[in-house]
Amino acid sequence: MIFIMKNFFKLDKPTLSFEIFPPKGTGDLSKIFATVDGLASLDPDLISVTYGAGGTSRENTAEIASRIQNEYAIPALAHLTCVGSTRSEMRQTLDRLQQLGVRNILAMRGDIGEEGTKDFSHASDLISFIKESYNFNIFAACYPEKHIEAYSMEEDLEHLREKCACGVDVLISQLFFDNSLFFRFRDSVRKLGIKAPIEAGIMPITSAVQINRMVAMCGASIPDAVQKIIRAYGHNSMAMREAGIAYATNQIIDLLAGGVDGIHLYTMNQPEIAKRICENIRGVLYSLRVKRA
Ligand code: FAD
Repeated sequence: MIFIMKNFFKLDKPTLSFEIFPPKGTGDLSKIFATVDGLASLDPDLISVTYGAGGTSRENTAEIASRIQNEYAIPALAHLTCVGSTRSEMRQTLDRLQQLGVRNILAMRGDIGEEGTKDFSHASDLISFIKESYNFNIFAACYPEKHIEAYSMEEDLEHLREKCACGVDVLISQLFFDNSLFFRFRDSVRKLGIKAPIEAGIMPITSAVQINRMVAMCGASIPDAVQKIIRAYGHNSMAMREAGIAYATNQIIDLLAGGVDGIHLYTMNQPEIAKRICENIRGVLYSLRVKRA
């Protein structure tokens, strides 16, 4: 069979991408490829693979992204962080990604740990470094409720403007549960003259524990509607899952109606949840693609 790979940059908008995370350790990858099988059947425009997020392996990101691209013919996006790396270590990582045929990199600083920043202080340093010697498409992270370290939204937006000026092709947002915050952020970004498409990051809430952990890590606010859902259904995992799928579906339908460039679904490696959401949004998504084409 001949596979024809989609070109993410030539697709009709809105785009739909999925995020997965590699297993911990360097062992067996069969489980993650069972996840990819499930997600691939939903015909996404891109699958991204995280890098060391939440303590998961960094070793496997390049290989998983490469196989998604080369064996499944789905555009892959390898996440990459520069915190704690030297220029020569980063060059080795980028050379490997290039050799494996990966074309898209989500270039980030990463969370600063005990090792400090070493040769790269900000994501913009990594992006400039990549642009000097490589030909990857560059994706970058953005934060509708500002990055947790930034003093103000204005300051964070100014840094985002500088980052985009280094050569960002696409932005992917941090997860959020209140669409009005995303729309306000998008307006501010456009006012600054940033033209890169922004994929909105959506995480279906599937348990009260998961949402509390994510919110503590990234600083997203929990609107009253979500708190009400957690209070009512948090004690029952099935009910919570159903309510989470419904909430994410409604969020996406509203974002699509508001002209979002794309949706980035944090799948948490659960293809069955992604499948339910895709079934719910497929009709509206395609109606918009036909209309805008
Ligand atoms: P930057 O863009 O460098 O910004 C970080 C902070 O520094 C911000 O407060 C910004 O305002 C400030 N800043 C930027 N430039 C300057 C400057 N020139 N001077 C002063 N201050 C400046 N983490 C992982 O470890 N692995 C992953 O796979 C991963 N995937 C992610 C995917 C998405 C879609 C998102 C939104 C985040 C992801 N993260 C991941 C988390 C990310 O690494 C953290 O949020 C990290 O703290 C910031 O990375 P950044 O690239 O946004 O940093």
